[in-house]
Amino acid sequence: LKLVTFSRSSGPLTLGVTDGVAVTAIAGRIPGAPNDMIALIDRWPAWQKQLETITTFDYPLRELRLHAPVPRPGKIFGIGMNYADHAAEAGGEPPKDQIWFSKAVTAVTGPYDPVERPIVSHMLDYEGELVVVVGKRCRHVSAAQALEAIFGYSVGNDVSVRDWQLRTSQYVLGKSFDTHAPFGPWIVTADSIDARDLEIATFVNGERRQHSRTRQLIFDCAAQIAHLSKAMTLEPGDVIFTGTPAGVGGARKPPAWLQRGDVVRVEIEGVGAIENPIVDEPAATRQGKLDTPR
Ligand code: ZN
Repeated sequence: LKLVTFSRSSGPLTLGVTDGVAVTAIAGRIPGAPNDMIALIDRWPAWQKQLETITTFDYPLRELRLHAPVPRPGKIFGIGMNYADHAAEAGGEPPKDQIWFSKAVTAVTGPYDPVERPIVSHMLDYEGELVVVVGKRCRHVSAAQALEAIFGYSVGNDVSVRDWQLRTSQYVLGKSFDTHAPFGPWIVTADSIDARDLEIATFVNGERRQHSRTRQLIFDCAAQIAHLSKAMTLEPGDVIFTGTPAGVGGARKPPAWLQRGDVVRVEIEGVGAIENPIVDEPAATRQGKLDTPR
């Protein structure tokens, strides 16, 4: 199944099932079903069978706005240096331990929404990544159990502000700017895809910059969940950016930072694609006022 969070013009967020071309609103077809992705994931065993009966779709996707499938995850984590070729271009050996950072949940934005180039830096960069959405509350799980804790997969861009990321020992600020966690366009449920060896590619203005396969992950998705769960309880709807391959803009000679007007597309075989235009940080948030508009 492919699950989306969408809206029609300025209407409310709505949970849907899609075939990739058109969408059906779940609550309209199945009375009493949740209309919130985290609630649906949390109660998935109670609704899965009924959702699988939806095989006709009502609204063309192109007439809707797709939001991030989990619009406000409880937690977002990203793993650093998790493809050997990316570790090498960043000047390092493949890490022995998993390197984790968090991204602020306010960084989430939709699969086709604009990504903002901040006023405080010009070093804006992309990282195409497979995104895992956690399905089960879990703690201290083995790698085998961790696979069962995966609800599904999306396509993400771990947008990074390199100077803010690297000038201190903590990545978190450089990874957490508003609009810098686009993902989607939907969640492909884990029972409908084997994510261990999928082609992944990132394009800037149509030029392919990153190209790899998920089997090149140093720590695979299950190992990542097993490790995180040693420290904390993972919960339904938590989001994990599972690492990026070689080819980021900052590693090019000279560096190729994202500019206003660029379009970044990330594609993953069997999952889908997201495409985000780069815009300047808007005037509405530049003015240093309280009650900043959303
Ligand atoms: Zn990343």
